[in-house]
Amino acid sequence: MRALSDWFRRNHRPLPWRETYDPYHVWVSEVMLQQTQVDSVRPYYDRFLARFPTVEALAAAREDAVLAAWSGLGYYSRARNLRNAARRVVADHDARVPDDYDRLIALPGIGRYMAGAILSIAYNRPFPVVDGNVRRVVSRVHGWARPEERLLWETAGAIVNGGEPRTVNQAMMELGATVCTPNAPRCGDCPLRRGCAARKAGAQTEIPAPRKRPATVRVDLHAVLDRNRNGFLMQEDRGLWEFPMLTEPPGDGFIHLGHCRHAITHHRVEVDVYRGKLPRRRGYRRVRFDDVPVTSLTRKIHALAAAPTDA
Ligand code: SF4
Repeated sequence: MRALSDWFRRNHRPLPWRETYDPYHVWVSEVMLQQTQVDSVRPYYDRFLARFPTVEALAAAREDAVLAAWSGLGYYSRARNLRNAARRVVADHDARVPDDYDRLIALPGIGRYMAGAILSIAYNRPFPVVDGNVRRVVSRVHGWARPEERLLWETAGAIVNGGEPRTVNQAMMELGATVCTPNAPRCGDCPLRRGCAARKAGAQTEIPAPRKRPATVRVDLHAVLDRNRNGFLMQEDRGLWEFPMLTEPPGDGFIHLGHCRHAITHHRVEVDVYRGKLPRRRGYRRVRFDDVPVTSLTRKIHALAAAPTDA
């Protein structure tokens, strides 16, 4: 593992969450990085920690303030779980992020990967992590096309025990993100190339075998921007605000402003956006757009409010 660790020390990207091993900071970064690209996370990470600098600050915050800081990052259950877990850390663990597996995994939103990441990166304890990057690197090195999860975790466990845990785990993830990439691995730059079965067989891009993805489901919706001097007509759903969404076009009297598209897991949402006055609707209120937390889909819809009409 020395070649891998040396490679990481020389080549890792200088990311803001790599400037500290503070357990709360490591935890926040790992939650944000779940299902989200590094470049999308960067600005959110700094802003979030400026707003909630400690686990106590996060625990004391209102849910809508936390969602507002998360607004646009997606997968909002992550933010709700993070806040709920922070409250448990303050109430049950004296505001210290636990350094043992059983206590960590009992917190909302923390699974095996997250517990391993916090324990190894923040506390330098030899717990494995298996994310998509580690899965790809381990599979290629061993030449496994379809390895079982159990085997991957066992192998990652043996790897993390072979060096400094925080360096080895971050190195495996970084190698997968920057060198051992899905389609064009740069084997010439790889510290593991000598022992890599996939490279020897020239089978890098066939290993691991692609997983079957669920078919994409298209969803057609029609959003209405109904604005007066008191703001937009919007409705709150679990802390986030959205415009009225119809399953059919709103009909005469509405001006078509444009179209936007959004991908959520295996759904492709196609939204036509209109301006017009809706009849009174239960559960809706007039709000100022900039005052409420919204999803990135709602932000895309709002961007069309200023668009020239195509009617
Ligand atoms: S040698 Fe190539 S395929 Fe093997 S781990 Fe390194 S980058 Fe990946």
